Amino acid sequence: MRAVQYRTIGNEPEVVEVATPDPGPGQIRLRVTAAGLCHSDSFVMGLPEEQYVYGLPLTLGHEGAGLVDALGEGVTGVEVGEPVAVYGPWGCGLCHACTKGAENYCPRAAELGIAPPGLGAPGALAEYMIVDDVRHLVPLGDLDPVATVSLTDAGLTPYHAIVSSLGALPAGSTAVVIGAGGLGHVGIQILRAITGATVVALDVNEEKLSLAREVGAHHVLLSDTSAAGEIRALTGGVGAQVVFDFVGAPPTLETARKSVALDGVIQIVGIGGGLLPTGFFSTPMGASVRAPYWGTRSELMEVLDLARAGAIHVEVERYGLDQAPEAYRKLHDGTIRGRAVVVPGD
Ligand SMILES: [Zn+2]
Ligand SMILES: [Zn+2]
Repeated sequence: MRAVQYRTIGNEPEVVEVATPDPGPGQIRLRVTAAGLCHSDSFVMGLPEEQYVYGLPLTLGHEGAGLVDALGEGVTGVEVGEPVAVYGPWGCGLCHACTKGAENYCPRAAELGIAPPGLGAPGALAEYMIVDDVRHLVPLGDLDPVATVSLTDAGLTPYHAIVSSLGALPAGSTAVVIGAGGLGHVGIQILRAITGATVVALDVNEEKLSLAREVGAHHVLLSDTSAAGEIRALTGGVGAQVVFDFVGAPPTLETARKSVALDGVIQIVGIGGGLLPTGFFSTPMGASVRAPYWGTRSELMEVLDLARAGAIHVEVERYGLDQAPEAYRKLHDGTIRGRAVVVPGD
């Protein structure tokens, strides 16, 4: 089968021919119908050798959807041919966090050598992929996999961050979304669907700001050093109750720090390499700072339900498997509108 692999530190990913994997006991093989590309793939491929821990060659793709193609020994609960999405942050399945469905916070995954697909385990950017356990599959039903696959990360990650600060986002509150790319443009829609907040979106790119407006942002602002002052002005000096930073770079974190309200929340979602000093001489009194990671299994089901209800969607640019390296280049250059999705059948 064909797969998109990161093979050499510092090089671009390559489309290669590899053996089609067979599912072992308890595993499921999917015929991939769609796979999303993510900025964190670029982050991983940009790491120097001493910080790179994902193994080589690495089949990329941590957003996956497919049709159940073959069942390993002992697998029950899914049928061959069933359309599914893959829950990516795999955990041990047995600890307290995993039992609550929060496998994204499994404390045992690292010691057990369990890694998400595309971030250690072979990922979804291939004609077939192996899923390690049936609990990591969520039925897609009649949702279109190409339109939906990115909700497994670009929907789930903002949803998890938003749900964890829901209490701070009643009617009359303000939520700031920094970065209207893959995650941000879905985050704006989730905020509109499940909170009463006024949504202010920031980006450095005018096209992304127009996308932000299209998907429901009440206000859009250029993300520069004057943005925090403009947010203060929009909120009568109070600031935003929650700032979601989907970039996480030093300048955006500075905007977050300066625009969050007293007792507000900063959610650092992007892995842009920034650090935010927190305390009496940096952040406003009462403010808390979180760096959430991905989301829970039940939250993925809720995100898919929001899509099913028509409340959220992903803007998708569609590519064939052979075009994946080109799509990664565009992602790196910031010229993808919404999410790039690879369809192996194209
Ligand atoms: Zn991702
Ligand atoms: Zn666990």
